[in-house]
Amino acid sequence: MSKPSALGLILVISGPSGVGKDTVWQTASACLPSFGRAITCTTRERRPHEVEGVDYYFVSSDEFERMIRDDELIEYAQPHGNHFYGVPQKSVLDRINNGLDVVCVIDVQGALRIRGLFPAAILVFITPPQGRENEVLEKRIQGRSAVEASELETRLKTASWELSQVQLYDYQIENDDLQRAANELCEVIEREKARRTVV
Ligand code: ADP
Ligand code: 5GP
Repeated sequence: MSKPSALGLILVISGPSGVGKDTVWQTASACLPSFGRAITCTTRERRPHEVEGVDYYFVSSDEFERMIRDDELIEYAQPHGNHFYGVPQKSVLDRINNGLDVVCVIDVQGALRIRGLFPAAILVFITPPQGRENEVLEKRIQGRSAVEASELETRLKTASWELSQVQLYDYQIENDDLQRAANELCEVIEREKARRTVV
């Protein structure tokens, strides 16, 4: 008889801004019902379509500093050098300690920190269509919500560094056709789950 491991899995999804991390995750989540998303904290402003406590916990800089001081965050970073983002310990530990799986949609620095703390974490990098990287990222960032020219420039600059880190991940998935990318994510996780099932 086989039994699943007691601790839940940690899935980390990274990739440049606008590549479609959230959209791929949302599309794939229908076939990955054991996973819940870790809601992370940020000091950046809420976008019009975003919902507090669903997309992020939007906090002030003072509150973020307090969370760092009180050791409430597993990791935190400034992916684009301005706003802070961090993963609350509770959002990950409450799930995995109860045998539930969790997904963290975070930047490269955060992914590596999670890998250091939880070596069994599965790291997936979402890439833009090959050969059209900048063009596609720019279009998707602008298509999502209004963005200032300076912010767009910062995000595209960060993207080229992030894309150079793809080899640090267990899997890379190209997000050209959304449904194909989501299916590939589901297949990767099913394979990993089967591999980790203890006999
Ligand atoms: P990220 O989480 O990586 O910053 P989002 O998931 O917010 O990116 O997606 C950015 C924009 O790109 C959204 O408007 C989304 O609808 C769009 N998008 C995502 N995937 C695709 C795709 N495969 N084809 C076309 N548009 C996409
Ligand atoms: P955005 O402002 O586009 O929502 O996110 C900017 C970047 O921050 C994205 O790469 C996103 O995945 C990342 N991010 C979101 N939450 C966290 C977090 O808690 N920690 C880290 N390290 N990155 C995060």
